[in-house]
Amino acid sequence: MNDKLAVLAAEAEKELAPLFAEIESTAFHNTRKVLDAFRKEKVDESCFASSTGYGYNDKGRETLDRVYADVFGTEAAIVRPHIVNGTHALTLGLFGLLRPGDTLLSVTGKPYDTLDEVIGLRGDGMGSLRDYGVNYRQTELDEDFSDALDDSVKVVFIQRSKGYLDRRTLTVDEINKIADYVHANSKAFVMVDNCYGEFVEKEEPRADLFAGSLIKNPGGGIAEVGGYLAGSAKAVELVSYRLTSPGVGGEVGASLGQNRNMFRGFFLAPHIVAQAVKTAHFAAYIFERLGFECSPSHDTPRADIIQTVKLGSPELLCAFCRGIQYGSPVDSYVTPEPWEMPGYDDKVIMAAGAFVQGSSIELSADGPLRAPYIAFMQGGLTYESGKIGILSAAEEVIGEMSKEKK
Ligand SMILES: *Cc1c(COP(=O)(O)O)cnc(C)c1O
Repeated sequence: MNDKLAVLAAEAEKELAPLFAEIESTAFHNTRKVLDAFRKEKVDESCFASSTGYGYNDKGRETLDRVYADVFGTEAAIVRPHIVNGTHALTLGLFGLLRPGDTLLSVTGKPYDTLDEVIGLRGDGMGSLRDYGVNYRQTELDEDFSDALDDSVKVVFIQRSKGYLDRRTLTVDEINKIADYVHANSKAFVMVDNCYGEFVEKEEPRADLFAGSLIKNPGGGIAEVGGYLAGSAKAVELVSYRLTSPGVGGEVGASLGQNRNMFRGFFLAPHIVAQAVKTAHFAAYIFERLGFECSPSHDTPRADIIQTVKLGSPELLCAFCRGIQYGSPVDSYVTPEPWEMPGYDDKVIMAAGAFVQGSSIELSADGPLRAPYIAFMQGGLTYESGKIGILSAAEEVIGEMSKEKK
């Protein structure tokens, strides 16, 4: 590694030490909650047994649902390997709660891209909420939404993480304030897209329903597939009828050998999320010192695991992603190239060398090839490997900058 970077890395860790201590204290708090739940629900070897067919009386599945609910402070939860990703979990939530004639109101601007077809903002005849007569309305983040909250609104939707947008991530406190207002002024359900947020703070949002992906934070890098929804008993029951069938609900669903990894991943998740958050702070410090604008800045406490680095040119964005890829445990020999991704207007470059395909609790980065050439990076199963990946990205970027100067 070049000497300048080694000095920067040492300075970063000195400066970040108090923040790292804070992050470790959050991980400790959340680990205690997880252990308390495992004890309360009597997690034992029999919970790891697999089931087949209908999957009736799958003790592990039923226990894991209660463990999630205990830890997340909700009445109920549904955690399943049959939920294929975060989009699927959110879709189950929306279709579970909304009925023809109802209105969905997003109060944090346009939801995550993959929900366009679900809501019916894009595509036709796919069975979107719109096809079923559900209306959609949105107000921008921080805009007063009180006028939009009329009697037709059945779900108020909040996206916690910035996702791939140029906005701030909401803290749990901010979400709770919105939820309290909605509950005081309407009968609507409050639903939160909790992706990338779990375990970053000491509590999860106070919502009627929130959802996320197990190949992000709560799977702890161990779950190989899955998603969850947690919330009130009523909301989770409605979701269970969408996941399987009305009347059947959550009583079925063979766990196909996934229980052990889902338990182990949830046990590790508070620690793993802390590794990713530390990696994000480290990345912000290094790249700010190299002259790039980073969001959040290195000294801002986090509400999710996403870090953006504004690289300013396609060459530097590609160099950043090359470095992340080279510093990954899997596919480190591969050079990422920009490609035309379905559903996107610009080419996108992605770096991911993960044990689980598409896992973004593992170190990963991507960005559209469009000005101002922002890399969105997240994850890192261990801070040590995250640090190595970031320094590798920094080396590539420094190398590319010196080429540009010549
Ligand atoms: C990742 C993510 C989703 C869901 O994405 P999947 O790729 O379907 O898991 C939804 N919302 C946000 C904010 C996300 O970060």
